[in-house]
Amino acid sequence: MEIIKRLVSPKKYSLKCPFLMTPVGICVHNTSNDASAENEISYMTGNSLATSFHYAVDDKEVIQGIPENRNAFHAGDGSFGDGNRKYIGVEICYSKSGGEKFIQAEKNAAAFIASKLKEYGWDISHVKKHQDFSGKYCPHRTLDMGWQRFLDMIQNELNKEEGMTKEERIEFNKLKKKVDKFTKVYKYWKDLPKWALRPMYAAYKAKLFVGSSPSNLNVTYDMIRTVVYDARLARLIGVINFKDDAEDETKADILKELGIE
Ligand SMILES: [Zn+2]
Repeated sequence: MEIIKRLVSPKKYSLKCPFLMTPVGICVHNTSNDASAENEISYMTGNSLATSFHYAVDDKEVIQGIPENRNAFHAGDGSFGDGNRKYIGVEICYSKSGGEKFIQAEKNAAAFIASKLKEYGWDISHVKKHQDFSGKYCPHRTLDMGWQRFLDMIQNELNKEEGMTKEERIEFNKLKKKVDKFTKVYKYWKDLPKWALRPMYAAYKAKLFVGSSPSNLNVTYDMIRTVVYDARLARLIGVINFKDDAEDETKADILKELGIE
């Protein structure tokens, strides 16, 4: 399953995720809402409330709003609580009305959580519910339908792949992450790493790479590195020019400056 990153602006770290975190498990929620994952994340990252969570999962996709190495405020157990300081918060969408969309969102969440357990080398005991930390009846619809049933869904996903020891699994996932990074296709300008935006755009304007347009970028990480290298070379000999990005700039700032949607 592809995980889409729509991370909160670092300018909001002090509000949404002020503490560095080494996660120890997953905390499961239901949104009590009927909005998509994309809308849940954009609402969460856009508002001025401290409430935050790492992931929202719906019937189609998983969207990340907070980096996993930072805390999020989702468990209702205060600034020093384990839930808010050590657990990755996962919201399952469409729980208010339930139905097909929720059923599929729960399935996707089970597969996603299983993939996280594998990535970290955790077993099922690392999956907690919001209720465990603050007593709130959350994830409400998942609890109504049976918590053990949901844990079994995750366990079934875990059982699908056998034949690897825990150490091999961790090693395999490290390699997979590297391969994924280098083979991932970046479709849109807004998906590019911040450091690549200005040099890539200058190179694009100067037609240093062809066959792409702002609406249809489709480059891999390797290609990005190559184009940025070429752009720097072109700047050195005075053919093109662009600024270097600054620490306090966000991707959104640079996209706006370049006039890219
Ligand atoms: Zn909750």
